[in-house]
Amino acid sequence: MTYLKAIIILVIITIGCTAFFLNSNDENPTNFVVIFTDDLGYGDLGCFGNPVIQTPNLDRMAAEGQKWTQFYVASPVCTPSRAALLTGRYPIRNGMTSSKHGVLFPGSTGGLPQSEVTIAEMLKQKNYATAAVGKWHLGHLKKHLPTTQGFDYYYGIPYSNDMNANRRGNEYRKESNEDPNFLMPTENYNVPLVKNLEEIERPVNQNTITKRYTEKAVEFIYSNKDKPFFLYLAHNLPHIPLYAHADFLGKSKQGLYGDVIEEIDWSVGQVLQTLKDLKLDKNTVVVFTSDNGPWLMFKTHGGSAGPLRAGKGTTFEGGQRVPTIFWGPEIVKPKVVQEMGSTLDLINTFAALSGTKIPNDRKMDGYDLSPILKGETDKSPRNEFYYWRRAEFHAIRSGKWKLHIKQTSPIVYWNKYEMERPELYEIESDIGEKYDRYESEPEIVAELMQKIEQHLEDTKDGMPDQLEARIKK
Ligand code: MG
Repeated sequence: MTYLKAIIILVIITIGCTAFFLNSNDENPTNFVVIFTDDLGYGDLGCFGNPVIQTPNLDRMAAEGQKWTQFYVASPVCTPSRAALLTGRYPIRNGMTSSKHGVLFPGSTGGLPQSEVTIAEMLKQKNYATAAVGKWHLGHLKKHLPTTQGFDYYYGIPYSNDMNANRRGNEYRKESNEDPNFLMPTENYNVPLVKNLEEIERPVNQNTITKRYTEKAVEFIYSNKDKPFFLYLAHNLPHIPLYAHADFLGKSKQGLYGDVIEEIDWSVGQVLQTLKDLKLDKNTVVVFTSDNGPWLMFKTHGGSAGPLRAGKGTTFEGGQRVPTIFWGPEIVKPKVVQEMGSTLDLINTFAALSGTKIPNDRKMDGYDLSPILKGETDKSPRNEFYYWRRAEFHAIRSGKWKLHIKQTSPIVYWNKYEMERPELYEIESDIGEKYDRYESEPEIVAELMQKIEQHLEDTKDGMPDQLEARIKK
């Protein structure tokens, strides 16, 4: 009898263990896709309130997944924002900020320091296949390209699509301000297309770039369907100059800008459909977001921050709060999340979902959002966010309050702007940063000033001196 009992217990344990291992990360690892757009505003998608641009794929993605309404990028411009997403560290720590320049340029010799650990490098702990498709902007020299930072494969334009221009930005600005359908010849921008470490096309035919990025993304998913993968799909658009494939030109109700967004929406649909076709939708998490707010000085070519104040380049909400969606039918519980999150949190979240470990030898700035994604809690672990412009600290958000100690001009953000005193906004009810509460809330101001001091103390071991050398125009 005792012998029989022992056999039964052994069988139960064996079945239990088998079930456990079948459900564990190693047997059914979570794949990750990050779709990162360039200069897309908070108000540019149907599911975020745009009244005319048609984004059915993103709207469905939001309905099936989680739409995050208070999600931030760690910088209002490209280079530092990208560095923060990939490393989970504020740009003041990860080397990709500077007091003189906002971003890397084609003449820059610098790039993301090799000492930084990217999401791709972290996922290599579990042998993930990794690809970067699209804009890099963390150093275009061979020693800085994605294949030196944990990615097995790279295909894309290594910096912004308006660089190396013959006719400069001001000319584009003048013509595009007058014509929402203005199309600059793509040859005007002598930008390279790079595959792994080699240049394969120059100037890039940008009319087909979104389509080609999509094809490469789909190919990568197909060829890695049997192993865990991380795809970082970073579109160059809708950063100006705007281009869309002939299939989308003139189709939207919002000129060329609307055409570009509708093509990006199509692209998202292709990626999600591929995951469904391969039955990978069950164990893949897809994140859609933008690197910073809309470039407002390009007017009809520059998108909209919706109800938010200002746009790209500023530390107002329009510069750093971005439309964000998480999708993963078997993992992400459908919901509109009105909590704080940041691209800084992706590395911690992916670590938790993949069973890998974030670096423990340096200061990290992210939080694990996976419990809220899975519906295990309603509360985000993030209660604070710090706004930096270049190497200059501008503002703090703590809970529902946001205190600015510095600002720039809302549209021409490189203009110096002296504040007479700090400004305080109750940012949850005053989403447009209109009603300054500085005078009436001295205790809140004092509390936030103290948190700012702590943060500045905590970040003083950043790398500003190295950054000056790294980022040269
Ligand atoms: Mg950008």
